[in-house]
Amino acid sequence: MPEFAEIEALRRPLAKRLNGHTIVNVTVLEPRSIEGEIETFKQNVIGSTINGVDRYGKYGLIRSDHGTLMFHLRMSGQFYIQKVNMVRPSFTRVLLDLENGEQIRYVDQRKFGYLAAYSKNEPLSFLNGLGPDVLDPSINTRFFIETFKPIRRKIKPTLMDQHLICGLGNIWADEILFQAKIHPASICAKLTDQDFDYLYHAFHQVVAYAIEAGGINHYNPLPQSEYNGQFDLFTHTYGKEGKPCSACGSTIQRMMINGRSAFYCPHCQRMIH
Ligand SMILES: [Zn+2]
Repeated sequence: MPEFAEIEALRRPLAKRLNGHTIVNVTVLEPRSIEGEIETFKQNVIGSTINGVDRYGKYGLIRSDHGTLMFHLRMSGQFYIQKVNMVRPSFTRVLLDLENGEQIRYVDQRKFGYLAAYSKNEPLSFLNGLGPDVLDPSINTRFFIETFKPIRRKIKPTLMDQHLICGLGNIWADEILFQAKIHPASICAKLTDQDFDYLYHAFHQVVAYAIEAGGINHYNPLPQSEYNGQFDLFTHTYGKEGKPCSACGSTIQRMMINGRSAFYCPHCQRMIH
């Protein structure tokens, strides 16, 4: 699933293709791929001229003179931007016609992703209850202590809780915990202020690195573009089960936490419980 870094990498090539173009028609082939009423979606989108692409957490925000077209790609969402007479890719769910004879084709094999349209004066209701974005300057050591210390859950799923910090998923949470030398099953409430300081600095470093690298991904969310996300995993622990730890040579292990895989080095990462 694309996380903050992969959506960040998508912004520039998507804006390059879309900025200045007007959406003149909308065809919804799969109602599940649209959040809310299809008619309202169409009203908000048809006639809008796109002027930028932003990001909040793992959400993409296509800005226009009408408002915001939000997308959440989840497991397999992709955009193809193609001439209208080209054969549609399999699993095309939504068609957005542009004034120049091209079409934005929202493709989503697994149908977990969706688009939502907000008019200019409408609050972005998807933000309700979400934590600050990973790049929010209010996230510091104190934020980690105040937010995570009261929680008696394991640290890995807590880092991925979008209500606390918005944007982290499985891959980058594993990297942060490796850098912080904290075992993923450690209990938040048991971490010391010093541990949270390490955690914040690891978070800050990994977020900057992930964005610099252009993210990593298992698929290309914008085929036929200059999207430059990495498709080989260059992580330290994620997907590296059975391989030697880059720091100490111990074997990277995998465990399940709340039904999700967590990869870690049993030597470098200290269990705090
Ligand atoms: Zn190690």
